Amino acid sequence: MAKLYFRYGAMGCGKTRDIIKVWYNYKEKGKNAIIIKPGIDTKGNDKIVSRDNSELNTDYIIKSNDNIYDIISKHKLKYNLDCILVDEAQFLERHHVEELTDICDDLDITVMCYGLRADFLDNLFPGSAALFAYADVIEEMKTICECMDGATRNVRFVNGQPVFEGEQVAIDGEDKVTYVSMCRSCRKKLVRKMNKDRLYPR
Ligand SMILES: [Zn+2]
Repeated sequence: MAKLYFRYGAMGCGKTRDIIKVWYNYKEKGKNAIIIKPGIDTKGNDKIVSRDNSELNTDYIIKSNDNIYDIISKHKLKYNLDCILVDEAQFLERHHVEELTDICDDLDITVMCYGLRADFLDNLFPGSAALFAYADVIEEMKTICECMDGATRNVRFVNGQPVFEGEQVAIDGEDKVTYVSMCRSCRKKLVRKMNKDRLYPR
């Protein structure tokens, strides 16, 4: 049976680059992969763009009320399909992930989701929570903190200053928002340096 994969990692771990690599691997073998992503991610619009500026077009932008199973069923009437690659999967709704499991189980199509585990306050994203619950294969993609330990956190910076409050979604590169991947320990040191009285803000 086809499997649902969740490959997660902090920003800069090469998720988009891996999607592009897998897409070409399928193409070279005469197989068909498509790329979808949630509409909430405005970065690159209808393209996916890796940090080394490789890019591919997105086949479908998924809105919150869209049913991915219906979209893929229609697609399959016209085209062969072997694999669905999902970028920014943390922004999926739970029902989207359930639809992806139906695509694996009923349509026998491999689904590979790539996304962040948790937001800048270390809360799971809805799509990631559902993927941890449903995925057949869960793999961490590594990147490193400046201390050389593995980076697992995404610390949000606005105008160059770290922030530890705000909305869950603020897209990298918009409104002077940037993110730095850090290990848990370095994030704690940064919070303490900022004289935050609560290490785990609620
Ligand atoms: Zn560190």
